[in-house]
Amino acid sequence: MAQNAQSNHNGAEQRRGVCLVISAPSGAGKSTIANALRASEPALMHSVSVTTRQPRPGEKEGVHYHFRTMEDFERMAAAGELLEWATVFGRGYGTPRAPVEAALAAGRDMVFDIDWQGHQQIRRALPDDVVSLFVLPPSLEELERRLRGRASDHPDEIARRMAAARDEISHWREFDHVIINTDLDRAITEARSVLVAARLQTRRRTGLLDFVASFGA
Ligand code: 5GP
Repeated sequence: MAQNAQSNHNGAEQRRGVCLVISAPSGAGKSTIANALRASEPALMHSVSVTTRQPRPGEKEGVHYHFRTMEDFERMAAAGELLEWATVFGRGYGTPRAPVEAALAAGRDMVFDIDWQGHQQIRRALPDDVVSLFVLPPSLEELERRLRGRASDHPDEIARRMAAARDEISHWREFDHVIINTDLDRAITEARSVLVAARLQTRRRTGLLDFVASFGA
């Protein structure tokens, strides 16, 4: 059989990036899980959302969010600059479109920390690219305990987030995968497995066409 560059696969191949959407009620640990995935894989990109809420202590413009006025947010939404957007806790949240399109075309994988409304919209916008994961807390009591431990949120805000948690959880079946974050290390391993499996999906592996042709199949 003729030997050529593709007949000996070296692990590198052109493919479209994966959009890993992670949703959960606030406090279930999705940001911690997303951060852990990125820490072990620096090439993994994080979609930095636009929000109209105030920064929490330690949050940086352009790193955690792009903090914008409602007026700016509405202008971006009207101009089609947001791939998806939703109102959560009375504030606007949205995903800037341009970085996502650039990452996917370059074969870079991206993690999205967005709510169920964003998941529905992004799934419609990018049906072949999205793989989604819902993170459940071990219990509502534990969720409340974790939210209270996050001192930056006002008690009224915590009450609102608890009310919203039940609503968010009611959408869990819309997601491809679901994990329960009882043990953080285990949850991170499970989330990483979802990402690895998504990368191996046959439909993403068009870069293998020449390699597989070398088998004469
Ligand atoms: P937080 O204010 O705690 O950072 O986020 C509140 C909620 O908004 C979380 O459920 C988070 O996933 C969601 N969220 C953050 N960014 C976006 C976004 O760009 N789009 C949507 N739809 N939800 C978002």
